[in-house]
Amino acid sequence: MRETGLEALEAGLARDLAYLNYPPENWVRPQQSTDGRHVYDVVIVGAGMCGLTAAFALLRAGIANIRIVDNSEPGFEGPWVTYARMNTLRSPKHLTGPAMGLPALTCRAWFEARFGAAAWEALDKIPRTMWMDYLRWYRRVLNLPVENDVTVQTIEPYGDLLGLEIDGASEPCLTGKIVLANGRDGVGGLRIPAFANNLPRACWNHSKDDIDFDALVGKRVAVLGASASACDNAAVALETGAGAVHMFVRRADLPRINKFKGVIYPGFTHGFPTLNDEWRWRLLHYALDQGVAPPQDSMLRLKCHPNFALHLGSPWHRVETVGDEIEIETPKGIHRFDHLILATGFTVDADKRAELAGLTDKILLWGDRIDAPSDRTSQDLARFPYLGPAFEFMETEPGAAPHLRHIHCFNYAATLSHGVVSGDIPNVSEGAQRLVEGIARDFFAADRAYHFQQLQDYDELELLGDEWIDADAVLEKTPSG
Ligand SMILES: Cc1cc2nc3c(=O)[nH]c(=O)nc-3n(C[C@H](O)[C@H](O)[C@H](O)COP(=O)(O)OP(=O)(O)OC[C@H]3O[C@@H](n4cnc5c(N)ncnc54)[C@H](O)[C@@H]3O)c2cc1C
Repeated sequence: MRETGLEALEAGLARDLAYLNYPPENWVRPQQSTDGRHVYDVVIVGAGMCGLTAAFALLRAGIANIRIVDNSEPGFEGPWVTYARMNTLRSPKHLTGPAMGLPALTCRAWFEARFGAAAWEALDKIPRTMWMDYLRWYRRVLNLPVENDVTVQTIEPYGDLLGLEIDGASEPCLTGKIVLANGRDGVGGLRIPAFANNLPRACWNHSKDDIDFDALVGKRVAVLGASASACDNAAVALETGAGAVHMFVRRADLPRINKFKGVIYPGFTHGFPTLNDEWRWRLLHYALDQGVAPPQDSMLRLKCHPNFALHLGSPWHRVETVGDEIEIETPKGIHRFDHLILATGFTVDADKRAELAGLTDKILLWGDRIDAPSDRTSQDLARFPYLGPAFEFMETEPGAAPHLRHIHCFNYAATLSHGVVSGDIPNVSEGAQRLVEGIARDFFAADRAYHFQQLQDYDELELLGDEWIDADAVLEKTPSG
């Protein structure tokens, strides 16, 4: 039977992996708890793009005793088919994302195998839901052992190990290390403006919510924010039949540039984490402070709706319910709406993360290292964790919480320490490689005595002793005279 394009790709990928001797043998010292329970070497929390890439990188590095869990149902990890509402990816199609250097593992290879090279040429950007299909394929074809519908509730030290409380299991899951691949708000939460606390919960959503857009048909909707998500949510409201959608932006003008697209080159990727604190702070503060322009297609998706309005230079000074309406006051006037969508993004703030409760007061933050100025961007950055070279948390006081160095923060919160390698598509492979090299270094160094013993015990013979003839020995045996 003739192979389909996808079958041929998968066969080729399997061959490539075999050529690369994948999977290599596990080399990490097996551990047991004092009470004889299984101990994983690494538990990855989150099986979105970062978690999957980290899992593959670990397996490629011979770190095989891993567990990877995600609280979503299978195939619905991350934002792509849940709360992301753009039609296509925001990033360009040529990025190789989680492919880890393997051409057959790229989204392009997968797409071409299904639809042909001409279709790829004709494609502008990758459709959003197709990216999720690609990640599903990535997981399947690499046979990554993801467990879905599993929630990590808390993380605690457990002797020299870490314990994860999972879905109320009677005993914690034990591991040497944890990789937090738990997403954009993985060390933080939703950014909710204070006024929302005084409004009935039913009259507003955050853009990450599962929004009932059908309930907004014919309604007047206000969207707060200028981000890509603000545009996408406004667009879905309009396309579903909202009566009017008004988008309010604090800045006097929309950012026109996405500075983060200007940092996608190897010098930045590899050089950034080697810079001193001042330089890393300066670069990231600048890029964030400039604001991120929403993609052009997101803006154009709005422009064709006559019932869409954009209000620049319009921070919300007062928001309150008046009868059945929500009244919003900006420097430019008063508006009334039926529903609000807060596209106000996410914060980095370990205190907001239930999994880390009890650990956070000892986590070193950038604000402990830098005297942060009072501007909004600096205050945000001050709450980022100050991570070590393998994305590991560090302690506020040496020795105060040694277990923290075994929790590796492979998510957006690593950006100030490591650059853009643990959240967006472009450099996630480079990030995973850096993470795994660090984890491998840690395991080896911690178990150096074991590895020395392994070396001493290593006795695979290369030579049996009968491959040569000792000329002197022959002479000695030869009778003289
Ligand atoms: C709306 C939106 C659009 C984006 N579009 C682009 C784009 O076009 N291009 C680009 O480069 N980047 C984009 N990004 C940024 C980035 O690529 C995505 O956020 C991407 O999903 C990051 O992958 P991740 O693995 O870090 O997080 P996620 O994909 O969010 O995966 C994290 C997973 O961890 C799980 N999890 C969290 N906590 C727990 C727990 N306690 N127990 C078990 N599981 C848990 C979550 O359910 C989730 O499945 C976008 C981000 C958003 C939010």
